[in-house]
Amino acid sequence: MGARILLIEDEAKLARFVELELCYEGYEVTKAYDGRSGCELAVSGGFDLVLLDIMLPELNGMEVLRRIRRGSSVPVIMLTARDSVTDKVAGLDLGADDYITKPFAIEELLARIRTAFRKISSVQDSEVLSASGLLMDIKRRTVTVNGDQIELTKREFDLLHFLLKNKNLVMTRETLLENVWDFDFDGGTNAVDVYIRFLRGKIDEVYQMKLIHTVRGVGYVIKDEQ
Ligand code: CA
Repeated sequence: MGARILLIEDEAKLARFVELELCYEGYEVTKAYDGRSGCELAVSGGFDLVLLDIMLPELNGMEVLRRIRRGSSVPVIMLTARDSVTDKVAGLDLGADDYITKPFAIEELLARIRTAFRKISSVQDSEVLSASGLLMDIKRRTVTVNGDQIELTKREFDLLHFLLKNKNLVMTRETLLENVWDFDFDGGTNAVDVYIRFLRGKIDEVYQMKLIHTVRGVGYVIKDEQ
């Protein structure tokens, strides 16, 4: 199934032409002819990308973009009718990902769409957390120090992940238990201490580093020392 594109464009002929070309490329296209219905569709979710005209009846494209950005990071490419610098700057300021000036060649639009999708996938691929020379690749579920891969159990990985996500913030044992262990776990907060010891044994001790700090009477924190 192709990526789902929402096209908000009031010029019916142009919308139809773009729709046909996008379908031919394997995208699934939904059209809206005015700002209000387009906005409703966009914020309802379910689209991978939005093509948004600026001059639209009912709600203009800038307002639609503003409303989309209140709750969604879906990529938006603005279709600007004029070669207006103000529109482009305003659109990018409001969180548009790109813009294309009408009239455009369909090849150029397709290229912009591919670029927008590439950007998303590279952001997703490179989700890496780090502290003091340790790198955690979330997607690949790998942890490395100085290029050495460290073997962690699922629980150890999840605990380290949670501490890294909250780097420089002290996490209480209770917070760690609630977020890393299952809700019905009743083994007590010393389970946290046990797993912190496991992590220190595999990381701090082996690499002679101080990654996980104890805050006496409170909990644990990973500080970024670099
Ligand atoms: Ca228009």
